[in-house]
Amino acid sequence: MIRFNNVNKWYGRDHHVLKNLNLEVRQGEVVVVCGPSGSGKSTLIRTINQLEAINDGEIWVDGIQANSTKTNINKLREEVGFVFQHFNLYPHLSVLENITLAPINVKKVPAAQANQQALELLERVGLLNKKDAYPSNLSGGQQQRVAIARGLAMNPRVMLFDEPTSALDPEMIGEVLGVMKQLAESGMTMMVVTHEMGFAREVADRVIFLDHGEIVEDTMPENFFTNPQTDRAKQFLRQIL
Ligand code: ADP
Ligand code: MG
Repeated sequence: MIRFNNVNKWYGRDHHVLKNLNLEVRQGEVVVVCGPSGSGKSTLIRTINQLEAINDGEIWVDGIQANSTKTNINKLREEVGFVFQHFNLYPHLSVLENITLAPINVKKVPAAQANQQALELLERVGLLNKKDAYPSNLSGGQQQRVAIARGLAMNPRVMLFDEPTSALDPEMIGEVLGVMKQLAESGMTMMVVTHEMGFAREVADRVIFLDHGEIVEDTMPENFFTNPQTDRAKQFLRQIL
């Protein structure tokens, strides 16, 4: 579903931020990406839907070459849902309108059908009763669940998450991880940048550990936690566990 072939990226001339990355994510796989701050996790995940350009190599998503200038970027972004650390909901739109905006305007889904699907998604994330609320009247955890529903409304093949719980108060982290876990169980292909190692252990099929723009470990969660191969991973795990 996702493939990186010898991907390199620089910021400016000297900052080599992604170093010859090779990786593959199969359909239905859940891959957690972790690593120290500044290691390139956000950059990596943002290259998948062209929020960041790469300098060298290839990225493929479900048969679409993500780094080609010939690729229709809207088509690519229909396939790839993205959930950010900060929810980025439109403050002037209701919860329902936030979810239906892109399906109606980008995908040209008829409004009645988009509304129906949005209500189903809100039910799935446990927020049907908030359909007419505005983002400012929701908690952080509720806003993030709406952001997930909004991503799903485009019927993506892949969902990407960049630290979806790190801006939340601790008591709201569980409800968001719960929705993500349910999504994983439904068979969605997911890449998740997170430091929630409980989620990684319980839900991920693989953990990728990134350090200074390099994939240092790419293995099953159990292996990563109990038997890290590199000093860099051992040190990282000591700091966060
Ligand atoms: P992470 O998400 O792992 O913390 P990032 O991908 O955000 O790491 O950043 C990796 C490195 O690239 C950091 O050193 C960061 O300062 C730098 N960086 C990130 N975005 C930009 C940018 N737009 N321009 C220049 N440098 C950047
Ligand atoms: Mg980041």
